Amino acid sequence: MIVRKNTVGVRIGDVQIGGGAPIVVQSMTNTDTADIDGTVAQVVDLARTGSELVRVTVNNEEAAAAVPHIRERLDRQGCKVPLIGDFHFNGHKLLEKYPACAEALAKYRINPGNVGRGAKRDPQFAQMIEFACRYDKPVRIGVNWGSLDQSVLARLLDKNAQRADPEPLEAVMKEAVIASALESAAKAEEQGLPRSRIVVSCKLSRVQDLIAVYQSLSARCDYALHLGLTEAGMGTKGIVASTAALGVLLQQGIGDTIRVSLTPEPQDNDRTREVIVAQEILQTMGLRSFTPMVTACPGCGRTTSTYFQQLAQDIQSYLRHQMPVWKKQYPGVAEMQVAVMGCVVNGPGESKHSHIGISLPGTGEDPVAPVYEDGVKTVTLKGERIAEEFQALVERYVES
Ligand code: SF4
Repeated sequence: MIVRKNTVGVRIGDVQIGGGAPIVVQSMTNTDTADIDGTVAQVVDLARTGSELVRVTVNNEEAAAAVPHIRERLDRQGCKVPLIGDFHFNGHKLLEKYPACAEALAKYRINPGNVGRGAKRDPQFAQMIEFACRYDKPVRIGVNWGSLDQSVLARLLDKNAQRADPEPLEAVMKEAVIASALESAAKAEEQGLPRSRIVVSCKLSRVQDLIAVYQSLSARCDYALHLGLTEAGMGTKGIVASTAALGVLLQQGIGDTIRVSLTPEPQDNDRTREVIVAQEILQTMGLRSFTPMVTACPGCGRTTSTYFQQLAQDIQSYLRHQMPVWKKQYPGVAEMQVAVMGCVVNGPGESKHSHIGISLPGTGEDPVAPVYEDGVKTVTLKGERIAEEFQALVERYVES
């Protein structure tokens, strides 16, 4: 059993982060926000895939001017996903000059390390918080290792140098990440932003560092926490690193919303992959259910062809594709387990443990595919149309 850490709930539009709410999946666009068509299309794509919050960069005047139009277009298409504005360096100016942008966004992300330098830092941070108070918006105090507030680091390094037993530099840097987040959140509260409108994150790019920082952060505050391994990387490396880091923290009950930061493959720029990975992390850990899961064996020399791999993939895609309709019609369908197995060695056993499963014929076996429903063999498929017939059986199972 995972016991979630108690945090203060924060409403982002219709979505709640923390306070006992289910862990929220979020993602971020990589379009130029000023490109309204491109950004709307990507937000819709991310939301359809299951992103419950979508962040867009608001990096210049064109982007700030585009935000209300993006919101309006999304609303017209029936896409209600809350938009979060990611601000760095000039957020205070943009929110002042573009009130429609400030209004259209459901949350502001503020990076204390990029809010201003030197003497400008505090007043510019205060201005951002003032806008959050004025427009009644929550904020994320989002510290990033790569843009750490140098004044906090310098102060902690000085303090460390005066110690009889100084800490290693890495430890001081990790403490600076946490201190920057907590001190900024405290300043926001002093300015009148309630704790129920503050989400905190401390993102680092190394798995063990991230785990250590979030364990400490969670022990020291009850702010709703946004988890994510920053700059996780491409392909399997990004997926494995994010899963390893987030898995450990989620198992300890830490984290109220997650983002998996994957670098998209250059050939397809498919941003939805990070949403699917985030959902699968939560679902495989038993924290949420998004879509029926397919259990498939890896295959081996006993499989006669790649037929079963294709069937497993087709069934998973089919289930995912059907979910927007099914989840409205058939509550609970997301918890369904489907097995697609390559031969009789583990096929029947795994199929019996699933709601519905098929065991395809392996080398030297009869060319038949027994199907099990709720642990009982109901039919044996054979011939050229096993895939189509099994898909129809899955559909019938869902409907029944
Ligand atoms: Fe190989 Fe059969 Fe096991 Fe699949 S179930 S890995 S095909 S032995």
